[in-house]
Amino acid sequence: MVDSDSDEIEYAKEQQIINNTFGEWANGVICISSKELDTIISTEKDIIIKNTYGCYCYSEAQRPHDYFHIRSNQPHTNKTIIKHLIKNNFNPGCNHMFLEHISKINDTSYQLFMGS
Ligand SMILES: [Zn+2]
Repeated sequence: MVDSDSDEIEYAKEQQIINNTFGEWANGVICISSKELDTIISTEKDIIIKNTYGCYCYSEAQRPHDYFHIRSNQPHTNKTIIKHLIKNNFNPGCNHMFLEHISKINDTSYQLFMGS
Protein backbone atom coordinates (compact mmCIF):
# COMPACT_ATOMS: atom_id res chain seq x y z
CA MET A 1 0.00 0.00 0.00
CA VAL A 2 1.29 3.43 -0.92
CA ASP A 3 1.15 6.01 1.81
CA SER A 4 1.20 9.30 -0.06
CA ASP A 5 1.75 11.39 3.10
CA SER A 6 4.97 9.60 3.97
CA ASP A 7 6.05 9.77 0.30
CA GLU A 8 5.65 13.52 0.45
CA ILE A 9 7.61 13.71 3.68
CA GLU A 10 10.35 11.59 2.15
CA TYR A 11 10.44 13.85 -0.91
CA ALA A 12 10.62 16.99 1.26
CA LYS A 13 13.47 15.50 3.31
CA GLU A 14 15.27 14.56 0.15
CA GLN A 15 14.90 18.09 -1.25
CA GLN A 16 16.15 19.52 2.02
CA ILE A 17 19.35 17.46 1.83
CA ILE A 18 19.88 18.47 -1.81
CA ASN A 19 19.26 22.15 -1.04
CA ASN A 20 21.57 22.07 1.97
CA THR A 21 24.29 20.54 -0.18
CA PHE A 22 23.97 22.71 -3.27
CA GLY A 23 22.00 25.78 -2.24
CA GLU A 24 18.83 27.27 -3.71
CA TRP A 25 20.01 26.63 -7.26
CA ALA A 26 19.31 22.95 -6.80
CA ASN A 27 15.71 23.44 -5.72
CA GLY A 28 13.78 20.72 -7.54
CA VAL A 29 16.41 20.56 -10.28
CA ILE A 30 18.72 17.83 -9.01
CA CYS A 31 16.94 14.51 -9.42
CA ILE A 32 19.88 12.43 -8.24
CA SER A 33 19.00 10.94 -4.86
CA SER A 34 20.90 12.09 -1.79
CA LYS A 35 22.14 8.50 -1.30
CA GLU A 36 23.93 8.70 -4.65
CA LEU A 37 25.71 12.00 -4.06
CA ASP A 38 28.93 10.36 -2.92
CA THR A 39 28.87 7.72 -5.65
CA ILE A 40 32.17 7.81 -7.50
CA ILE A 41 31.75 8.66 -11.17
CA SER A 42 35.44 8.65 -12.09
CA THR A 43 38.84 8.20 -10.51
CA GLU A 44 40.63 9.82 -13.45
CA LYS A 45 42.32 13.10 -12.60
CA ASP A 46 41.02 15.01 -15.62
CA ILE A 47 37.51 14.53 -16.87
CA ILE A 48 35.20 16.27 -19.29
CA ILE A 49 31.49 16.65 -18.61
CA LYS A 50 29.44 17.26 -21.70
CA ASN A 51 25.93 18.53 -22.12
CA THR A 52 24.28 18.46 -25.51
CA TYR A 53 21.31 20.53 -26.57
CA GLY A 54 19.72 18.21 -29.09
CA CYS A 55 16.29 18.66 -27.52
CA TYR A 56 13.29 20.22 -29.24
CA CYS A 57 13.81 23.45 -27.23
CA TYR A 58 16.82 24.20 -29.43
CA SER A 59 15.47 22.90 -32.73
CA GLU A 60 15.01 26.45 -34.08
CA ALA A 61 18.05 28.18 -32.60
CA GLN A 62 20.72 25.55 -32.12
CA ARG A 63 22.97 25.75 -29.12
CA PRO A 64 26.52 24.38 -29.10
CA HIS A 65 27.38 21.64 -26.61
CA ASP A 66 28.72 22.65 -23.23
CA TYR A 67 31.96 21.08 -22.02
CA PHE A 68 33.16 21.33 -18.44
CA HIS A 69 36.73 20.33 -17.78
CA ILE A 70 37.25 19.18 -14.19
CA ARG A 71 40.59 18.36 -12.66
CA SER A 72 40.95 16.86 -9.20
CA ASN A 73 43.25 14.54 -7.32
CA GLN A 74 40.23 13.25 -5.44
CA PRO A 75 37.70 10.90 -7.08
CA HIS A 76 34.90 12.72 -8.91
CA THR A 77 31.50 12.04 -7.38
CA ASN A 78 28.00 13.17 -8.32
CA LYS A 79 28.39 15.82 -5.62
CA THR A 80 31.76 17.22 -6.72
CA ILE A 81 30.66 17.30 -10.36
CA ILE A 82 27.39 19.10 -9.58
CA LYS A 83 29.29 21.63 -7.42
CA HIS A 84 31.60 22.30 -10.34
CA LEU A 85 28.63 22.79 -12.71
CA ILE A 86 27.02 25.26 -10.32
CA LYS A 87 30.28 27.18 -9.86
CA ASN A 88 30.56 27.45 -13.64
CA ASN A 89 27.00 28.75 -14.02
CA PHE A 90 25.66 25.71 -15.82
CA ASN A 91 22.18 26.58 -17.00
CA PRO A 92 20.43 24.61 -19.75
CA GLY A 93 17.92 27.46 -20.10
CA CYS A 94 15.24 25.18 -21.51
CA ASN A 95 12.61 22.68 -20.45
CA HIS A 96 15.30 20.06 -19.84
CA MET A 97 16.48 21.45 -16.54
CA PHE A 98 16.32 18.33 -14.34
CA LEU A 99 19.60 16.53 -13.84
CA GLU A 100 18.69 12.85 -13.70
CA HIS A 101 22.08 11.22 -13.97
CA ILE A 102 25.62 11.50 -15.22
CA SER A 103 26.44 8.80 -17.74
CA LYS A 104 29.77 7.52 -18.90
CA ILE A 105 30.96 7.97 -22.47
CA ASN A 106 34.46 6.65 -21.74
CA ASP A 107 36.93 6.78 -18.80
CA THR A 108 37.46 10.53 -19.11
CA SER A 109 34.22 11.73 -20.73
CA TYR A 110 30.80 11.87 -19.20
CA GLN A 111 27.47 13.24 -20.28
CA LEU A 112 24.65 14.85 -18.35
CA PHE A 113 21.23 13.32 -18.73
CA MET A 114 18.78 16.18 -18.49
CA GLY A 115 15.05 15.44 -18.23
CA SER A 116 12.01 17.66 -18.55
ZN1 LIG B 1 15.38 21.33 -23.84
